[in-house]
Parts: sequence; C-alpha cells; structure tokens
Amino acid sequence: MRPFDYTAVASVDDALREAGESPECRFIAGGTNLLDLMKEDVMRPVKLVDISRLPLDRIEPTPGGGLLLGALARNADTAYHPLVQQRYPLLAQALLAGASPQLRNMASNGGNLLQRTRCFYFYDVAVPCNKREPGSGCPARGGLNRIHAVLGASEHCIATHPSDFCVALAALDARVHVRGSGGARTIAFADFHRLPGDRPELDNTLAPGELITGIELPEEGFAAHAVYLKLRDRQSYAFALVSVAAALDVDDDGRLRDIRVALGGVAHKPWRKRAAEQGCVGQRASTGVFAELADALMAEAIGQGDNDFKIPLARRAIVRALEKAAGLPADKRAAPESFS
Ligand code: SF4
Repeated sequence: MRPFDYTAVASVDDALREAGESPECRFIAGGTNLLDLMKEDVMRPVKLVDISRLPLDRIEPTPGGGLLLGALARNADTAYHPLVQQRYPLLAQALLAGASPQLRNMASNGGNLLQRTRCFYFYDVAVPCNKREPGSGCPARGGLNRIHAVLGASEHCIATHPSDFCVALAALDARVHVRGSGGARTIAFADFHRLPGDRPELDNTLAPGELITGIELPEEGFAAHAVYLKLRDRQSYAFALVSVAAALDVDDDGRLRDIRVALGGVAHKPWRKRAAEQGCVGQRASTGVFAELADALMAEAIGQGDNDFKIPLARRAIVRALEKAAGLPADKRAAPESFS
C-alpha cells in the first residue's frame, strides 16, 4: 500500500474544507471497500479524511412521512431498525442479503452507495481497464465476463454495480442528500449512479468533494407486498448474478395500483424501466402480467458470452419475485418449465 496522509474531522464543514484543499483525497467511514482497493493499488488517494465521527448516523422520520437514513448509520443498524423492518422490509431484506454480518456491522450507508464494481480486471492492476485507467481498454469484453452486464453496457465498460441495498433504494425512489462547496442538494436515486458510456471511470454523479449526508425514503414503503430475490453462486457472502427488488401496491380487487421492479447484477447501476411498470398499472396481479413486464424489462439485454445465462435467469427471477410479492398461491404461479 502506498503512503497517504490521514486526518479525522469533527464537522461536515471541516470535511468539505479538507476535500477542497486536496482534490486527490477520499472520505473514509467503514472502509470496507476502499481499503481493499488501496491494498490492491487500484485506488491511490494521497489523503484519507476520516468522517466516521460526524453526527450523520441517525435514522429518523422526516416531516413528509418518510424516513431519513444517516449516511454513517451502519448497514446492520439500518437493516434491524424497527422502522425499517416495519415500513421498508424490502430494504431490510436487501441489506441482509449483502456481504457478511461482520461487513454489515462496519459498512456505512453512504459507503454502500459508493462501493465499486467487483469486475476481476478492475482489481488486477497488471491488465488494462478503462474504469481504472481511462483509454486503456476493456479486457472483460471477450474475456471472463460471467458476472458482467447485459443491460446498459458500452463498448468501454461492461461492469455491474455490486450493491443490494441500492437495488432496493432504486425501487423505493429514494433520494440522496449531499453537501459540497456549493451547498446542499438532493439527487433522485435514479440519477445518482450512471451508465458507463464513454466515461466508465465515473460511477456516479457526485461532484468532486461532495459528501453524502443521508438517504431519504419516501412515505410509501410497500410493506405489504415487497420481496428482494437474490440469485448467486453460493447462499451467503456472494454478489448477485441477478437480483430483483419487487414492490407492489394492490387494491382489494387484486388490481395493481403501483408496481416497482429494480434489477441488480445486470447493469452498471440498478436497472428500472418506469414506462414498462406503468403499463401494468390497473391490471390484475397475475403471472401473465408479470411475464410481460419481465419481457419488457429484458428486451434490450445483450449477452457477452459467458453471461448469456443472465438474460433468461433475470426474466424468471422477475416473474418469481413479483409472484411472491403479490402473494400468489403456489398453484397460480408459473411452473419452471413454462419459462422460455
Ligand atoms: Fe474495466 Fe469495466 Fe472493462 Fe471491467 S468491464 S475491465 S471495470 S472497463
């Protein structure tokens, strides 16, 4: 690991000032991804600004009826918070599907949003990688790409975002509160992460030196009909090959008042297609409607070879997650052989 300077700050203002003085610095809280990246020489900050003592660890109701998750609240504390468990079970399920208990005890909510792809080549400084060294190439295209994207990729990068938490936040239409030298602003979750395009080195839309201070959940938590389904190579401590955050609002007649589906493991950011969701509103919750939505969500999917299996897998996972979220009885669900 390369030498670096370190300073701990006691206020957000101090953190922003430190970041303004040293553009090559990084904020550190739990450090569960950043320290790995520094040890592997993938990230080389000249200075770490330790923000772990800032008073940003509270989880509290908002005046608008939602919930504000402090950026420094730990993932485990968030998952087990009574209001999260009662009102946003989708979020609790997603958090508890991620990483390991030890990591969840350490990782902060803000840091979870900023974790970087687990593309093998990104971590191997002996090979080119456009995300690590812009313009150097993307060996994942035509290489080992079993874990890579099938949606929204570019010729420059086919990496996926690794978070489970973010998939649920996307489905819930969360908002990210940030502060920078220009003041405070709020970013819609759909606009926080970005697709790789021709700038794969940029994972998100934060301005240089901006600090995440909180994540706001809207009032609607879909507590009665929400499922996070994660498919992976082993049952714990593994990233999603495909994951689905499914949330429904169903009226007494079984018709869909609202439907949300966000996908993980398939793109550079949590994947949603609002127009396709809207097309289901007013229809009766059924396997047929869910299968049509799955087709629409995966219509533009393109496999890279090793990861071709993700396309039918995601389609099946979407249908299954929505069936479970709707509470369809087993005899009303699609049989596995009915999936194409
Ligand atoms: Fe790098 Fe992205 Fe290509 Fe992976 S997929 S090697 S992160 S450019």
